[in-house]
Amino acid sequence: MTQSSPQTDAPQTPTPDPSRRVWFNGELIPADQAKVSVFDHGLLYGDGVFEGIRAYNGRVLKLRTHLVRLYESAAAIQLEIPYTLDELTQATHDALEANGLTDAYIRLCVTRGIGTLGLNPYLCDRATTFIIADSITLYPAEMYANGLSIVTATTIRNHPKALDPRIKSMNYLNNILAKVEGIKAGCMETLMLNHEGNVSECTGDNIFIVSEGKLLTPPLSAGCLAGVTRNLVLELAQQAGIETRETDMTTADVYNADECFLTGTAAEVIPVTNIDGKPIADAKPGPVTRQLLDAFHRVVADAPED
Ligand code: PMP
Repeated sequence: MTQSSPQTDAPQTPTPDPSRRVWFNGELIPADQAKVSVFDHGLLYGDGVFEGIRAYNGRVLKLRTHLVRLYESAAAIQLEIPYTLDELTQATHDALEANGLTDAYIRLCVTRGIGTLGLNPYLCDRATTFIIADSITLYPAEMYANGLSIVTATTIRNHPKALDPRIKSMNYLNNILAKVEGIKAGCMETLMLNHEGNVSECTGDNIFIVSEGKLLTPPLSAGCLAGVTRNLVLELAQQAGIETRETDMTTADVYNADECFLTGTAAEVIPVTNIDGKPIADAKPGPVTRQLLDAFHRVVADAPED
């Protein structure tokens, strides 16, 4: 018997449609032929980096920022990307155009490439690079309206001195273990603490709280990804005259917050109204969250590509 899962972030086309195209090592090829070798260290060891990017109305949101983060992640693991930033910019557009997509979720991956069965990355000849343009539905519409329930994982976020969460690597097991805890508790997202017991981020999203009118989010030193959406929301809040602060926080701060929401390329901005079985304030998306959600939607609808 197959078991249903509370997860909805599975790709919407589980069997590759041969009419779709994937940008693969410089060529646009049919999706069902886009295959990575079993000797690729991306598969053998999760050795690689990636970006999740979004296109709205034919414009790719913050493409340059995503690509800069990709190159920084690659540099942090000493992985040479065999294309320039301009080439990957063009390739991202080509992947969208080849699939006739104007609104899409784009997954850009660079793996270490084909090597031996040992760990040594220097024995891998050339990185494997591919870009998938597809769609993603992370959370149901009802949760954007009424808020998400999350739980705190017992699995802590990677220690920055082990694998820095600022590196967007293809090795997501740390997040997956926490995500599984959340799924077992009936939640679609899970809060992760760092080795000091402070809030870091969720498994695939950054976290914000509103307290006494101020917008607070953990600093990058708390061991979270420098989320592109996190940064955009901080900018939008500042433009709206909302005081923002990057500050360490504990679960008690989240429990006592007036509002809470998560940000991510796939999730966009989503309210959180319950944590660890406790309501946050009156368990309804709050005014600051709604204001920032509206501002976010205006930006993605109108902003020129940058
Ligand atoms: N944290 C983690 C662990 C993530 O994987 C992501 C992206 N899914 C985010 C935060 C949000 O980052 P961004 O806004 O750049 O998508």
